[in-house]
Amino acid sequence: MNIYVDQDICQGHTICSMVAPDLFALRDEDGHAYAIDGDVPAELEGAAREAMLSCPERAIVEVSEHAIQEA
Ligand code: SF4
Repeated sequence: MNIYVDQDICQGHTICSMVAPDLFALRDEDGHAYAIDGDVPAELEGAAREAMLSCPERAIVEVSEHAIQEA
């Protein structure tokens, strides 16, 4: 799976990086989260989905394989 954080929606709650510290970090400049590597390894997909469900703003977006192939 591929993910990214929508910077227009993220409010910097930090929950994602607490739930999945291997996947999310916070930017120094504005405290918004970003995906450390948007290409999530299979063993971390569960953590990625938990983070997506934990985000109060629903700012973590999963990119479908279909969209990637068309890009
Ligand atoms: S939990 Fe959601 S809103 Fe909060 S920092 Fe993470 S992505 Fe941004």
